[in-house]
Amino acid sequence: MEQTTISASQQAVFAQLKSLWENSRLPDALLLYGEAGALKEHFAKTLACLGVCQSENKPCMHCAACQRVMQEHHTEVSVYKGRGKANSFTVDTVRLIKEQAQVRPLESDVRFLILKDVHEMNQNAQNALLKLLEEPPAHTVLILTCQNKSALLPTILSRVSAFYLERVDMPFAAGLLKEQFPDKDDGTLLEAVELSLGDMELASSLLNEPKTLALYRHGAQMVKDGAFFSPFACLEGLAVFEKERDAFLHLLPYWMEQMGQIGKKCAQNGAQGRYTAQKCAKLYAVFANCRLWLDQNGNLSLLLTWLASQAEAL
Ligand SMILES: [Zn+2]
Repeated sequence: MEQTTISASQQAVFAQLKSLWENSRLPDALLLYGEAGALKEHFAKTLACLGVCQSENKPCMHCAACQRVMQEHHTEVSVYKGRGKANSFTVDTVRLIKEQAQVRPLESDVRFLILKDVHEMNQNAQNALLKLLEEPPAHTVLILTCQNKSALLPTILSRVSAFYLERVDMPFAAGLLKEQFPDKDDGTLLEAVELSLGDMELASSLLNEPKTLALYRHGAQMVKDGAFFSPFACLEGLAVFEKERDAFLHLLPYWMEQMGQIGKKCAQNGAQGRYTAQKCAKLYAVFANCRLWLDQNGNLSLLLTWLASQAEAL
């Protein structure tokens, strides 16, 4: 697999930011937004490499400094995040960030603080962050990432320079994983990226945990088999998720994405096996409802039974 630093779909944005950096005009608070699979954290780290890279051709991604940034070991580049759930990016973490922002950089001119998925901040945390955005220390660059700008307070949005990142293509993401998993073949890497919709942390955990990967494969196979059209096949297929709430929760966006893609094909070329555009739209809504239910801590067993009952209505 060919490997470049920034995917083709994001090179224009990167070039723009690089030019600002080289002219000392990079804003001190940036927001990178785009859906899961846009590899926003990778982009943010690569941007930070610009500031700490020791090579002529920045960012080289090979020097010790660049490597340390990518592995999150660089003193002047820190990554802060929640726990992957709503409201999990806490006000305590924001306080820590505010303290860290005051520390003067030793190894470079600037400290980069990367705040991943700030849509996971509740209002309190966002308000706490606001103070820092209003008066950022001169030697600090804050790089926020989020999926959806609308989850942020208007006061936050008015204080950051926002840049939209398009999704990267799957082979690009798989190529990045190759460095972490040199022993895995390209097909497996690509499969992990596809199943996780380009969420690199999830893709890594799938590659580290064969049991979880098997669960995801099973979920993908259910779509291929049309299991969601038969109450029995559906119930039988879903049984493995009884005690696998996290895997099920992560598979929902995958299934929604699949319904979107198959639905598009149906609209262009007519029915695809048992799938029609209308059925894809219905299933998409069913999966979206499942997600809402689980977000509100609904009972998983009940939900699986309900989901299987929906198969009859299709
Ligand atoms: Zn470098």
